[in-house]
Amino acid sequence: MTEIDRLLHNNKSFAEHYAHGHLDVRPSLRLAVVTCMDSRLDVFAALGLEDGQAHILRNAGGVITDDVIRSLAISQRRLGTEQIVLIHHTDCGLQLITDDGFRAELQEATGMAPSFAIESFTDVDEDVRQSINRVRRSPFLPHRDRVRGFVYDVDTGVLREVFPDE
Ligand SMILES: [Zn+2]
Repeated sequence: MTEIDRLLHNNKSFAEHYAHGHLDVRPSLRLAVVTCMDSRLDVFAALGLEDGQAHILRNAGGVITDDVIRSLAISQRRLGTEQIVLIHHTDCGLQLITDDGFRAELQEATGMAPSFAIESFTDVDEDVRQSINRVRRSPFLPHRDRVRGFVYDVDTGVLREVFPDE
């Protein structure tokens, strides 16, 4: 059985016990969470979230890219969210690379320079502050004042708030 076959098998029993029925497409907590794709961060468990309560946006690093702004614009303007939680974490894969190094690696391997920014970082707190600033400065988001940033410790499960520069 491949890993994906196993997932399909798991889904059968999941669907058999599925009890939510239909939930509103608009998140009931009016909340969006932007975080990293890291496999050790179970967003629902770590925050006590349930289905139907929040939008969860994930990418490598939990970076505020144009595509995250696209999703947040839809989340806020069509689906009623008003608050944003940003979560970076300790031991992130993006701390293992540099922008220039990974860009060169991609170019060398493919003959093409990527059109996207790599967005590596060394200081996780500083990167959270940058993400808060990117949200606050986006003209596409009507709700920019209720955004808070955190670092999640993957070894302890503890969430620590990072306060923006005023
Ligand atoms: Zn990460």
